[in-house]
Amino acid sequence: MMATRRVSGLGAQVTSLPAPKWRVTLVVDPTMCDGHGVCAELLPERVKMDQWGFPIISDEEIPTALADHARRAVASCPRLALHLVEGLQ
Ligand code: SF4
Repeated sequence: MMATRRVSGLGAQVTSLPAPKWRVTLVVDPTMCDGHGVCAELLPERVKMDQWGFPIISDEEIPTALADHARRAVASCPRLALHLVEGLQ
């Protein structure tokens, strides 16, 4: 049986919740991508090519130092298949 703890109501205490972290990642729409490889040339830190020439996108966060390169890769994708996604982790 799973143990539960009630945290609502007067006097409730919520402790040790992890702070959400805002992160930016790169994603590819595989239905749009046709494997030009521009993204891998412009952002090799996050994009590798598979044996068929399609991108393998790292799910690592895009740090500030790579933000301009990532935006350039997104803007240069001829199929508009590459996107930057922001969200809470
Ligand atoms: S540049 Fe765009 S179309 Fe070309 S491999 Fe990357 S995501 Fe696919």
